[in-house]
Amino acid sequence: MNREYGIQINKISDYFAKEKVKEEGNADLGEITFQSIRDVDDIFGPECTIKINWEKKDPTQYHHGLKVKDTIRMFSSINVVITKKETRWHLSHEMTYWLGRKQKMERGRYYQTSVIHGIVFCELTNRLFEVHAEVFAKYYENYKPLIMQVLETLQCHAS
Ligand SMILES: [Zn+2]
Repeated sequence: MNREYGIQINKISDYFAKEKVKEEGNADLGEITFQSIRDVDDIFGPECTIKINWEKKDPTQYHHGLKVKDTIRMFSSINVVITKKETRWHLSHEMTYWLGRKQKMERGRYYQTSVIHGIVFCELTNRLFEVHAEVFAKYYENYKPLIMQVLETLQCHAS
């Protein structure tokens, strides 16, 4: 999948709607969005949204620890409470992901959501990848394995 972007994503779960997949950009800068088939309601929208974006970076200007801190700072500033952070190996790269939760209000209604954010720099293509998923909290356990699978099987230097 997505040869033109130089990435490969494993077959996505049937929980996500093929007709709602959005792709834009090119191999150096781009984004793919997946949305679940089922909506919470017409205000909140899909139960789960997963966004994968990537951007070419000068490797000498990239510092993984700082980037992770920046994302945490940025999401904290929009009221995401970070609950866990973990670093592991992704292919030959260091990958960090953090989990969080957020209460958001839309049109007078409160929604509790869970967030998973993964960050990996691919030294083979000099691209920074971020996977950002937001799930309606009540369905978090259903979607978490699917999100982690997207994160773990993302081929950042597929050719
Ligand atoms: Zn890679």
